[in-house]
Amino acid sequence: SLPLFLAAQQHAQNDTRKVAIIDATKKESFTFTQLLEDTAALRKQVLELLGLTSTGDLEERRIAFLVPNGYDYVVTQWATWAAGGVAVPLCTSHPVKELLYTIGDSDPSLILIHPAFEKLAPALREACTSDIPFMGLEPFSRNESPSLPSFVPSFPLDRRALMIYTSGTTGNPKGGVSTHEIIEFQASCLVKAWEYSPSDHLIHVLPLHHIHGIVNGLTASLLSGTTVEMHPKFDPKVIWERWQEIGSSTMFMAVPTIYSRLNDYFDTNIRGTDREEAARAGAKALRLLISGSAALPTPVKTKFAEITGQILLERFGMTEIGMAISCGLELDKRVDGSVGWPLPGVQVRLTEKETGRIVEEVDQDGMIEIKGGNVFREYWRKPEATASEFTADGWFKTGDVAKRDATGAYFIQGRASVDLIKSGGYKISALEVERKMLALESIQEVAVVGLKNEEWGQQVAAIVKFRHGATPPDLPALRAILKIEMAPYKVPTVLKVVDGIERNAMGKVNKKTLIQKYWPDKH
Ligand code: ATP
Ligand code: MG
Repeated sequence: SLPLFLAAQQHAQNDTRKVAIIDATKKESFTFTQLLEDTAALRKQVLELLGLTSTGDLEERRIAFLVPNGYDYVVTQWATWAAGGVAVPLCTSHPVKELLYTIGDSDPSLILIHPAFEKLAPALREACTSDIPFMGLEPFSRNESPSLPSFVPSFPLDRRALMIYTSGTTGNPKGGVSTHEIIEFQASCLVKAWEYSPSDHLIHVLPLHHIHGIVNGLTASLLSGTTVEMHPKFDPKVIWERWQEIGSSTMFMAVPTIYSRLNDYFDTNIRGTDREEAARAGAKALRLLISGSAALPTPVKTKFAEITGQILLERFGMTEIGMAISCGLELDKRVDGSVGWPLPGVQVRLTEKETGRIVEEVDQDGMIEIKGGNVFREYWRKPEATASEFTADGWFKTGDVAKRDATGAYFIQGRASVDLIKSGGYKISALEVERKMLALESIQEVAVVGLKNEEWGQQVAAIVKFRHGATPPDLPALRAILKIEMAPYKVPTVLKVVDGIERNAMGKVNKKTLIQKYWPDKH
């Protein structure tokens, strides 16, 4: 059987009342025993609906599902796995058009729709060209006396298990396929590194159509017996309250924009009130807070530490490789601006873009390449794309650029495709310029991009949202300030002031779209 199911059975046997999931919407908690029972029941329903009897028949078939973050999501994903299918979680905030893209691309044998999204069903059904069966999910409620089911699905662990679409930051999202073995590797590697245990309690606010929410948040937790408290979405007020209410909350994982919103909420709604000390104490009591999916701006990290005393742990990963590099639990292993060291069992190397030569030198840019049991199997039905992302000797090319210091710690410089700006013979990391600009009090958000320019090759441009109430400097004044902090060739020569920078569900900025929007003739 799956290591995940065996682990769940073990957690249930060790303590029949051990809580796996707390569902913040249902305001109920669900034990590992009930989770396995409901998984077995839904698995049976799914197989019956498809006219199948054994799990073997479902091999390679995709089941797409639209389920809000909560207990019902977990049962649906586990039942898909127990039936031998490939789980395709649909994004709950996607409009119909994008849902249809994912459905069309993944070509599922069944679509499961939760009552929370019933309204979308007719439009989806109508637009689906093939007659894929739809099944309405019956929401699960707490069972006071669940019993451990006897089902033991058994199938090879190298079978496809999960298809997660990439964030679509650089183009159309691609379906990244991983097997049970790969997911198990990714999850247990994090359990080792971040020491999840049955005494942990994770508050989960991330979307569940991405690796961050699915593997780091859900799977690694349930594998290790950590209780997961699932919230339908992120709300800073609720999180500050929950940290305060439950002294037992120990872990939190989020993208940088979430930490930034927590900081802002504290400043505007908590600081100076009689709740201030209690709120600080609640956050301070946590064991571990992790940031990833995009670069963590140092001011956000510093501010959060100032409020809570917590030093965020930053890590690097992607759909195709799970997590690969992480800072350490020890406080001296949480280096500012660094994502840390390779995780156990993951090999990381840097190569020169033009020649492919392996970069051994300290402080030199190189393309990050990854090898290990964590690397995905393929992009779904895109054999050429899959082949072109691997080197001849089997390393996955992340497309991200980093450098390493003398301790072997990695510093992400950005995506080679959009974040490495070549101007007047210099190579400039957009991420580095962004980091320096964010250190200015007046700047709330910034995206630095390279614009095509005949004289310089590329020109450094900054799209900036100034802080509310700040008097924004004009370009010459901004340049003068920035020249104190960085070499003149790195300082932006073009400034676009905006009210806000568009981000996707994972808090990421699509720079190609921004350039197209503000400088249509310069990409
Ligand atoms: P697409 O592949 O569709 O363009 P995407 O690359 O954003 O979208 P994901 O797989 O969700 O999709 O994100 C992985 C990327 O996120 C990495 O390649 C990297 O650029 C970025 N990333 C993740 N963690 C960090 C981090 N700690 N610092 C900087 N960048 C990060
Ligand atoms: Mg990507």
